[in-house]
Amino acid sequence: MTTTPAAEPLLDVQPTPLALLLLGREADPASERGVECPGDLPAASDPDLVERARAAKARLGDRVFILGHHYQRDEVIEFADVTGDSFKLARDAAARPEAEYIVFCGVHFMAESADILTSERQQVVLPDLAAGCSMADMATAEQVAECWDVLTDAGVADATVPVSYMNSSADIKAFTGRHGGTICTSSNAKRALEWAFSRGEKVLFLPDQHLGRNTAVREMGLTLDDCVVYNPHKPGGGVAPEQLRAAKMILWRGHCSVHGRFSLDSVNEVRERVPGVTVLVHPECRHEVVAAADMVGSTEYIIKALDAAPAGSKWAIGTELNLVRRLAKAHPDKEIVFLDRTVCFCSTMNRIDLPHLVWALESLADGRVVNRIQVDPETERFAKAALDRMLALP
Ligand code: SF4
Repeated sequence: MTTTPAAEPLLDVQPTPLALLLLGREADPASERGVECPGDLPAASDPDLVERARAAKARLGDRVFILGHHYQRDEVIEFADVTGDSFKLARDAAARPEAEYIVFCGVHFMAESADILTSERQQVVLPDLAAGCSMADMATAEQVAECWDVLTDAGVADATVPVSYMNSSADIKAFTGRHGGTICTSSNAKRALEWAFSRGEKVLFLPDQHLGRNTAVREMGLTLDDCVVYNPHKPGGGVAPEQLRAAKMILWRGHCSVHGRFSLDSVNEVRERVPGVTVLVHPECRHEVVAAADMVGSTEYIIKALDAAPAGSKWAIGTELNLVRRLAKAHPDKEIVFLDRTVCFCSTMNRIDLPHLVWALESLADGRVVNRIQVDPETERFAKAALDRMLALP
């Protein structure tokens, strides 16, 4: 008889030296930009960090509103006035016009979206400028402009509607707005695609190929053959003009480095290890993982599904580890395990730690605005047009 290893240790992993490198404690200029924070940060070992964060927040009072993304560390989430996914947080910030400072504990594109959606007098601060998103970085404005030229040369640009995932830079959102497209989240991607296909024959989906493919194939009845992948690192995107003309979904070759790590093996392995488990994954996972899972949904969907699950039920969750750990703690009556056996934090999100938060809050309380994220008015205008189209989706 074989024994099933306990699931709990998978939630109790400790960062390895490699993970610490990825978490931004050392520089790795080859893979990330801006790994150094310009601030004079308090030491991570300072025993007064929690007290200092509390005191600075109290000094700022209603002038500050702290947003905590679901994938943040516990030490940061503790100080968040509200938690959520990137779009919910940006809207929450816009609904608090009295807050002069929005401290966004998330990544760069999220802070940009908050700046676009909040009023002129609100200033958005990202506690560590090095907190970027590897997926958003996979589509630059120049690359996307070049792609549009390729589509134009193939004679398909006029029939193509861009749909960009929220997880993209303000530049890409502005490109989308300029070309009559919309933004989508992982919750409304299907509605965004339906809207786009009512206006054009093809969709250029940026920058996450997996969300685009999973939504088109799982929810819209398209086939894998209807999709082509545009690789910005190859001439012409590595796609022949006739392939572009035949395709319905032109998928940008981008992915999330966190969700992209889950594999079909992870799903098969957890089913053996935890008999009767329900596998619930995020749609940023690869198509074969999503196809093998029992349920698929955004972070908000995952949270609600676990809230509604009966006591004693067993779940393997394919999303970021900080969130899975918190969910496991919040539901001790259910068995909740992480889908993979290896550490799977969002390394860039985890750059925001207590020293950075304390530094940002104390600076603001002293009257110094640090690490402000500000989108230029022209980019903001078109990005907002794309966001507004999303808000108006049926
Ligand atoms: S989890 Fe993935 S998509 Fe989200 S911020 Fe991290 S790298 Fe970007």
